[in-house]
Amino acid sequence: MSPASPPVFALVDCNNFYASCERVFNPRLNGQPVIVLSNNDGCVVARSNEAKQLGIGMGVPEFMVRDTIRAHRVQVFSSNYALYGDMSQRVMETLQQFCPDLEIYSIDEAFLSLSGFRSKNLSEYAGTIRSTVKCWTGLPVSIGIAETKTLSKIAGGIAKKTPGGVFDLLTCSDRDSVLNQTAASDVWGIGKARSQLLHQHGIHTALQLCHADEQFIRKHMGIVGLRLVMELRGISCLELEQCPPPKKGITCARSFGKAITQLHEMEEAVSNYVTRAAEKLRAEELAVTTLTVFLHTNQFKEVEQYSNSLTLKLPVATDTTHELITAALQGIRKIWRDGYAYKKAGVMFVGLVPASRVQADLFDGKDRTRSKKLMAALDSINERFGSGTLQYASSGIAKEWKATFNRRSPAFTTSWDELPVAR
Ligand SMILES: [Mg+2]
Repeated sequence: MSPASPPVFALVDCNNFYASCERVFNPRLNGQPVIVLSNNDGCVVARSNEAKQLGIGMGVPEFMVRDTIRAHRVQVFSSNYALYGDMSQRVMETLQQFCPDLEIYSIDEAFLSLSGFRSKNLSEYAGTIRSTVKCWTGLPVSIGIAETKTLSKIAGGIAKKTPGGVFDLLTCSDRDSVLNQTAASDVWGIGKARSQLLHQHGIHTALQLCHADEQFIRKHMGIVGLRLVMELRGISCLELEQCPPPKKGITCARSFGKAITQLHEMEEAVSNYVTRAAEKLRAEELAVTTLTVFLHTNQFKEVEQYSNSLTLKLPVATDTTHELITAALQGIRKIWRDGYAYKKAGVMFVGLVPASRVQADLFDGKDRTRSKKLMAALDSINERFGSGTLQYASSGIAKEWKATFNRRSPAFTTSWDELPVAR
């Protein structure tokens, strides 16, 4: 690819991703309304097209649509993140075969740089990508093509409603009407506040935003806003971000399935969260210098309220689970108060440093090489046989506080015990 070739981006987006993942291993669901619920089976986080047509909104609590679910036999699933994460990886690996320059934007979206493919018919190429992803993973995607990332997002939105699943803004003869049909609030990067501001100044569509006065945009939305307008005009300002910026922090926090009233249960929960967060830490080859633990009661219930947090500086940066559990448990015992019903707790690792550059403390008596080997063994066993195969005793066995996923499908692709069975 010559550096002079003008940029072309494709936005690949999986359609109704979580609902589609459920369908891959359960073809009975094809043509039926499917929804997926958030943690504790609380709110709707994904809907198949059929469920959308029934008027089930994004983010609504499950109990509010229970009548619709019953009347139309909507198939309901708890979130199955092991399955979704693995399916996401399969999609991204497939995309990489077609285009090495790729930015994984979210679990179900990626930007591709197609600048080097301009000699090809891009719509056709996108069609091939789309059918290959469908064939290799079973998942439907839609693809939008344009000369900037912002425009490719808009094209992607239209591709979703196009029968072939591909929309190329480069060859579209009436770009103005496309932008005119796109609400300014739907433009990538326009949040609630900005969309209100634009509204007040008579800017309602992407086309109006595209032609907006530069002085005005600069004054009210700064350089970021100006860049966005340029992108709408077809001038590429945002590049592909192929290496994500280093993480600033790792958090693991969950709501409990049932309220916790006993300290030993809280200790179990926190031990589990630290274990998860430490696994992520090691996967990114990082170590942590500071950690925060927090807990709170249910703010939406009329119970006596209490919340607190505590930040601890660790003597030496570490990525070792048992050291982190020890520190977190000290913290949680300090902020624990008897007599409350706790709804949520969590742990946050901040002050992350590369694990390779950990400074040894002169008075650090711990055998670091040994810990390192132990952690490597722990991670590889848990990766091979499923998370939690080996765990610390402080993490507990029964885990009655755990969030409920009563309607979760099996981890078809990541657990030997849950492989789909052919009949
Ligand atoms: Mg999607």
